[in-house]
Order: sequence, then C-alpha cells, then structure tokens
Amino acid sequence: MNRIDVEQIPVLKDNYVYLVRDRSTGKVGVVDPAVSEPILERLAGLGWRLTHILNTHHHGDHVGGNLAIKAATGCTVVGPKADRDRIPGIDIALGDGERFRLGEAEAEIFDVPGHTRGHIAYWFRDSDALFCGDTLFACGCGRLFEGTPQQMWTSLGKLRRLPDPTRVYCAHEYTQSNIRFALSVDGGNAALRERSRQVDALRAEGRPTVPSTMAEERATNPFLRADQPDLARGVGLAASDPVAVFAAVRKAKDVF
Ligand code: ZN
Ligand code: FE
Repeated sequence: MNRIDVEQIPVLKDNYVYLVRDRSTGKVGVVDPAVSEPILERLAGLGWRLTHILNTHHHGDHVGGNLAIKAATGCTVVGPKADRDRIPGIDIALGDGERFRLGEAEAEIFDVPGHTRGHIAYWFRDSDALFCGDTLFACGCGRLFEGTPQQMWTSLGKLRRLPDPTRVYCAHEYTQSNIRFALSVDGGNAALRERSRQVDALRAEGRPTVPSTMAEERATNPFLRADQPDLARGVGLAASDPVAVFAAVRKAKDVF
C-alpha cells in the first residue's frame, strides 16, 4: 500500500529534490534540499507543512538549503550518523538497520558509503520508494570521492536486493550520459538499448527519466552488473572478481 505522495522538484543544473508526504498524518519531509527558496515556494503552493529534512549525505548540492529551511519551518533535520558532523543543523542521526517514521510511513535506513564516507538511503518499503541520493543513479552510480570500490559494490548490493517495483528516486538527472557510457561497456544488452531509446524520447520532450524502477536498474545499470560475464568482457577482464570488474567500470566512467 502506497502511504506517501512524492513531489519532484528540479533545481540547480540537474538536481532533484523530493517532497515526501505521509498521506495519513500529513507530515512532510524534504529529501536533500540543495536550495531553500524553490522548496519553500512549492510547499506554500501545495499547502503542505514541512516537518523534516531527510539528508542522504553532506555535499552542498544536498544540504545547501538545510539551515534556511529549518529556520523558516522549525523542521527536524535527519541525516547519516557516520557524517553527523558535516550535516548542517542535524537533529537525528541514523545508521544501518535503523528506522525512521514520517507519521505512519516508515523508512528503513541503509548505510551506503562510497560516494562519501557517510551516506544513507531511505527505503519506504510499503510504498516501494527508495531515496538513494548520489549512491545509485538511473543507469549509473556516484563517483568514489571518499570510498573504495569494495565499499561501493557492497553498498549497491544492499540496494540491488530491493523488490522489482521499487521506484528509484536518485538525486540527479544524469541518465542520458550514463546510458551513453553504459552502452560502451554493455552494448550487447538488449534491455539497455531499449532503455536508451526510451530515455532519449523522454529527454527530447524535456521530461524526467527519474524515478526508474529497481527492475530496470538490475537489467541495465552496469554498476549493478559487475558480477555478469558480459560486463567483465566489456572492460577486458575475465569474469572472476566482481569488485575488480566494478572498479574497472567505475574507472572507465570517470574518464569517459
Ligand atoms: Zn554528492
Ligand atoms: Fe549530488
């Protein structure tokens, strides 16, 4: 049963900020507010009262609106325990296996380090919704600024297990360039080629390609497929160690 409404707000060059509203109590969280003004305006337009900020990690394009939004609304700031000292205004720090309740809607928390040292994802199981920040992107994953390939592969492994219909609400519209890269290492993947056509059509109309579903990601995202022989061949490795394949795919993307 879907307990939440989600509003998607494009800000800055390619960020998505999400408003998440618990239908039964009207509590509202904002996921990774990069900025404050467009968020406060949208809340006013909807007549929604903000109760929480839900941060995934410390980067400025995810926490930039925290203090102004907290000052304007008196909301509670929630973020990753492992990086609590880098989240402006944090009140509640969460880590792996903990739960967060937004009214009647409950999110399970995953620690997903790799992009940054402390990064969490929020999974609203009942509502088939995952807010994963810069860890998992549509057909891509975040750069390894503060973590290792082993860490990121383990983090993505936690997300890859989620059910097929899970909607993947990532924080950037990077899909088209991600797919161009994915085709360079997994060009024989028919599902990927079909996704490429769909995404090009959406972008040609100026529409978002996010959220995707976990079923799509498992079938087409090269960073979730490092244990597949095709991907290993795509980066010139024998199919043996998924971490080595993952590292090679990530490195190839960094210079693509
Ligand atoms: Zn980031
Ligand atoms: Fe970001």
